Amino acid sequence: MCRFLPLAFLLPFVVPVAANAADPAPQGPADLIIHHARVVTVDDKFHVVEAVAVKDSRILAVGTNDDMLKLKGEKTRLLDAESRTVLPGLYDSHVHPTGAATSKIPKIKSLKDALAYIKEQTKIVPEGDWIVLWYLFPTRLDEARFPTKAELDEVAPKHPVLFHAGPAGMVNSMALKISGVTKDTPNPGTGIVVKDAKGEPTGMLRSAYRVLKGVPSESDKFSDEERREALKKLFHLYNAQGLTSIADRNAGRGALDQYLDLKKRDELTLRVNVARSFDPSGNREQVAKRFEELPGKDGLGGPTGAGDDWVRIGPIKLFLDGGMLNGTAYMRQPWPKGDTYQITEDDYRGLLFIKPDQLQMVCEEGAKRKWQMTAHTAGEGAMDVLLDAYDLVNRMTPIKDLRFCITHANFPSQRNLERCKALGVVADVQPAWLYKDGSTLYRVLGDKRVRWFQPYKSWMEYTTIGGGSDHMLGQDSFDSINPWNPWLAIEVAVTRKTERGDVLFKEEALTREQAIRLYTINNAYLCHEEKLKGSLEPGKFADLIMIDRDPLACPANTIHETKVLMTMVGGKVVYERK
Ligand SMILES: [Zn+2]
Repeated sequence: MCRFLPLAFLLPFVVPVAANAADPAPQGPADLIIHHARVVTVDDKFHVVEAVAVKDSRILAVGTNDDMLKLKGEKTRLLDAESRTVLPGLYDSHVHPTGAATSKIPKIKSLKDALAYIKEQTKIVPEGDWIVLWYLFPTRLDEARFPTKAELDEVAPKHPVLFHAGPAGMVNSMALKISGVTKDTPNPGTGIVVKDAKGEPTGMLRSAYRVLKGVPSESDKFSDEERREALKKLFHLYNAQGLTSIADRNAGRGALDQYLDLKKRDELTLRVNVARSFDPSGNREQVAKRFEELPGKDGLGGPTGAGDDWVRIGPIKLFLDGGMLNGTAYMRQPWPKGDTYQITEDDYRGLLFIKPDQLQMVCEEGAKRKWQMTAHTAGEGAMDVLLDAYDLVNRMTPIKDLRFCITHANFPSQRNLERCKALGVVADVQPAWLYKDGSTLYRVLGDKRVRWFQPYKSWMEYTTIGGGSDHMLGQDSFDSINPWNPWLAIEVAVTRKTERGDVLFKEEALTREQAIRLYTINNAYLCHEEKLKGSLEPGKFADLIMIDRDPLACPANTIHETKVLMTMVGGKVVYERK
């Protein structure tokens, strides 16, 4: 397997130099020539060539074996790929690595597992202390539903319990009791304390955790060094699956500083595009002030494009509505009543967190300051609201070059796809949700509504979409929440097969070429980096991978088994399969 070792010793560590599209392409001779390969360039025409030459941190040339070997000088290293496939390094446009790096998640596949886990915890956790299950989505459980309050009471009568599934969660009677939540408790802000026919709280809280008292924070306390080591480890796992770039899709200054710190130490093994979290509340003056302060004293916090080729600022990230996996996405039609999401109301459409006028004002202030904007937008009703806002902003400040984005954009209608095209609006989308949640959504929402759930082919006909995992907890590429294995995502975009074996709307499947673009050049475009990476073309970064199969030709259902043999970032080998 490793006859092409000693790759690790091929290249000296190359100090990252600031490179941009205006820099001239490097001149020969090459430092490294990978020949007798299948080099999938992912250029405009998706050329597949035999060899690639690397100089310093960049691609010197791609082409035939003969032409590339002409670039050989005295010190050039040669690597015979023995017909293996070489691709541009993969790019995941939606991760939350700083939280994921230090997190631990129990293995839970069913509601039965969850209840057994809580019961186990009651023996360890002191009576009266909280037991919390974070980000456990009912759509992914065998029973495909939330527990009821009574079920939680049965396994944990003396402990407050929170079954957290993102914005919505279920609590038990003890949790309500110690928090003083009763039938008189009002709904907080845009949230809902769900009540039954008699007015008593059912235990379901939608964007209303603030009524609870004493819930511990999601992550334990770690020292700076522990956080740094955990993050480095996670980035190595990312490298091992072929990722050479990621986008943190919601970073405060603390997360940004963690990436800058790793860069300063020369310990970053992939490039990070950093979306900045932003509080959209307040009047225009307050919002404007917040924008002015965001770049910070060092100017590295914004606006979009600030920073360098290792840590670059991406868009502003807003949260417009709830989610699909917990019944809080803001839909055009009411959510069906039922136990999956414990919905008891007749006309419940989900939660919208930002009022349309406010949203428009915030996007306007962002556009004025050259920020790309994006918003978590799960339901089709929320997508209507977001595109209305983008449309109005565009009349004052053209947004096309800013590439305003929609994060998730799960249910684009025909009309909304056309509006995306007209406004140059792009989207970062999550194949893992089709895989993990598609079957339950199909059962709950039905054929007609799920027809427009993650329509990859239609999306690509109208706009540029990029693939992202929304990895937030755990580290294993398949078992994390959400699974972040990029090969699984590419396979799902091609097959539209769910974890439970359904094939949903095959007519919306991508071709292999499109699915590879989804995780390479399209994400580079989403992040305004397509002139630097996303394809193997002269002058672009030498961010590339060698893999054990040809994803353009292997059986589709084996794409997720792809093994990465070598990952290179900026001409430096950051991972090699032993
Ligand atoms: Zn996310």
